[in-house]
Amino acid sequence: MSEHALLSASSAKRWINCPPSARIESTMPEQQSLFATEGSFAHDVAHMLLAEYLGRVDPIGLAEWQYQLRSDSLWAEDLLDYVRIYVDLVIEKINAARAVSRDAVILLEQKLDYSLWAPGGFGTGDAVIYADGYCEVIDLKYGKGVSVSAEENPQLRLYGLGALNRPDAHLYSIENVTMTIVQPRLDSITSETISADDLLIWAQDEVRPKALLAWEGKGEYCAGEWCRFCKIKHTCRTRAADALALEAYGRTKPQLLTVTEIADILGKAELLISWASDIKSWALEQAERHHVTYPGWKLVEGRSNRAYVDRAQVATRLLDAGFKSEMIHKDPELLGITEMERLLGKKQFAELLEGLIIKPAGKPTLAPDSDRRPAINSLEAAIADFADQEANL
Ligand code: SF4
Repeated sequence: MSEHALLSASSAKRWINCPPSARIESTMPEQQSLFATEGSFAHDVAHMLLAEYLGRVDPIGLAEWQYQLRSDSLWAEDLLDYVRIYVDLVIEKINAARAVSRDAVILLEQKLDYSLWAPGGFGTGDAVIYADGYCEVIDLKYGKGVSVSAEENPQLRLYGLGALNRPDAHLYSIENVTMTIVQPRLDSITSETISADDLLIWAQDEVRPKALLAWEGKGEYCAGEWCRFCKIKHTCRTRAADALALEAYGRTKPQLLTVTEIADILGKAELLISWASDIKSWALEQAERHHVTYPGWKLVEGRSNRAYVDRAQVATRLLDAGFKSEMIHKDPELLGITEMERLLGKKQFAELLEGLIIKPAGKPTLAPDSDRRPAINSLEAAIADFADQEANL
């Protein structure tokens, strides 16, 4: 698992706006999502392509690297196409830097230390370029979830600080830092250029005081759009209070909501909906994976639809039974199960297609105790399973 700073650059927006979030989040287990794994694979591919361009890997090493990446289940031609968008941009910037300084420095996947302003703070710069008077930090974001702008982006600015903090910055008398985010799957490339002086003022005035609070687990909790990736967003009371702010409308007069109030409610409704949906998915995951029980609620099998086991066999059986092809098909597909049952009638449907229809288990869901479905893993479910098995013998 990769090393991770408490005051990481990727969570900077959160700990700058809500300093105590850093310490409380660190008590939660790390979870590597499939998206993160895919993102880190895309970075490996980009690193290899740029190392090849810069001649930093010998032919045998390159062949081995390529073989290793191409053998990975995540390898895909479209991933390569997307990564090339980032790689081409970096190459363009390398060439521009070399036009300014023949000995421009290019760093790939380097640690950028900004611990002067945030205790223990460091991150990894995907590509950093130094040329006379300026420095470029280029960040690849492979996800396709949210578009992120480089403008006033704390993560990129912290990388910029890390870049300023390296000896190369002094050798090239850096005056300006340009930070770029490339999101190839969202067709988005954004940049911010800031003077080194302004970046240092931001670090001293904005980052340092918040970082010290965050490091000590102090400061005020504060909810906002930065809660989105917070590990405690499901159970955080500050976020709950923020989401439930609309509740105050139920306690004021006059009886009818005004147009202005409704306009305000519309603005806050999205937050309430997303908070409620987070709570639902969190509770389901806790019940399913960690056997947490919620008073008045139980885990049940969700609804599911019947499906054909083998479409070709269904068609053969029905044709053998005398049905014409045009009756049982809605070109070119076999009729859906409900339509087929209507055509054959319940009795004939059951007889002719015995063994060819299944009802897959539904996805678990939380339901109130009053729901008629048995709780999963309960005695009733075990008996029902046993009865099903007996009936199928
Ligand atoms: S959910 Fe939001 S308010 Fe709560 S700790 Fe996380 S960032 Fe702060």
